Amino acid sequence: MSWEFGDKEKMKENFNDNTIDPIVHSLPTPNSQLRTHTEISEIFSSIQGEGPYLGVKQTFVRFGRCNMHCHYCDELEKMKEGRFQTLSLEEVFSQIKQLSEKEGEPHSVSLTGGEPLFYTSFLENLLPQLKQAGLKTYLETNGTLPKELERVIRYVDIVAMDLKPASSTLDRDFWKAHEAFLKCAVRQEVFVKVVVTPETTASDIERSVELVKNIQPRIPFILQPQSEAIGISVKALSLIETHYFELAKKFLSDVRIIPQMHKIWGVR
Ligand code: SF4
Repeated sequence: MSWEFGDKEKMKENFNDNTIDPIVHSLPTPNSQLRTHTEISEIFSSIQGEGPYLGVKQTFVRFGRCNMHCHYCDELEKMKEGRFQTLSLEEVFSQIKQLSEKEGEPHSVSLTGGEPLFYTSFLENLLPQLKQAGLKTYLETNGTLPKELERVIRYVDIVAMDLKPASSTLDRDFWKAHEAFLKCAVRQEVFVKVVVTPETTASDIERSVELVKNIQPRIPFILQPQSEAIGISVKALSLIETHYFELAKKFLSDVRIIPQMHKIWGVR
C-alpha cells in the first residue's frame, strides 16, 4: 500500500470501510521502526494552552508527521513540506534537559505533533529516559493508534486524548480505534477533548459522549470550540453553549468548555 501525505483519494480507497478496525497500523511509516532517530518539528518551552492543564509550563517536543488530515490543523503546511529535522535520541534528550536548566523545571514534557505515536519505536527509548530523569510525561495524541499506545502507556503520566469525529476533522471516523485507545489510556491519568467546529454534528457529539460514558463517565471531557488567532468560532461556541454542553453533562460528570488559549495569547 502506498500513501503520501495529502493523498486523500488514495486514503479513501484504502479506508472506505469505517467498520474495519483502523488500518492506520498498516500505513507505511518509514520512520516508525527507527528507535534512535526521529523527525522533530521543534522543541521549545511554553505554556500549555489547552485542556485541564491550561497554564502550566511545559517543554514541548513536536514530532513531524501525523496519520490524519484535520482541516483545522496548524501543522499541515509544515507536514506537507516536510519541514522537520532528523534528530538522534541523545540530541532530543539533551535539548529537553537544556531547556529545563535554562527555563526552570517544567510541569511536564509534552510529546505532541503531528502524532507522537507515529514514532512509537523512538518513544520506547525516549520515555524511559525522561522518567529516569524525574520528568513527568504528557502525551498529546489523536487517539487513533491503540496498539502503539499499548507499547508505551507505562511510561506516560498524562494522556491528553483527542476524539476526532469526521464532522469536525473532515477526515474519516475512528470510533473503534478511539474505543480501544481509551480503554488502554485509562490505566493512567487521561482526559478527552473534542474540537467543535461549525460543522460538528450533534450525532458525533452524542457518539463521543457515549464512548467515554461506557468506559468511565468520570473522565474529564473537554469541548474545545475551534480557535484561531483572531478569536473563537462564534458558531462553534454557540453550538456548545446551547446544545452540546448539556448533552454531555447528562452522562458525564466532568464536562468543561475550554478554548485553545495559546492562539489567543499569541504563544506557541
Ligand atoms: S491529528 Fe492533530 S496533528 Fe494530526 S492532522 Fe489532526 S490536528 Fe493535525
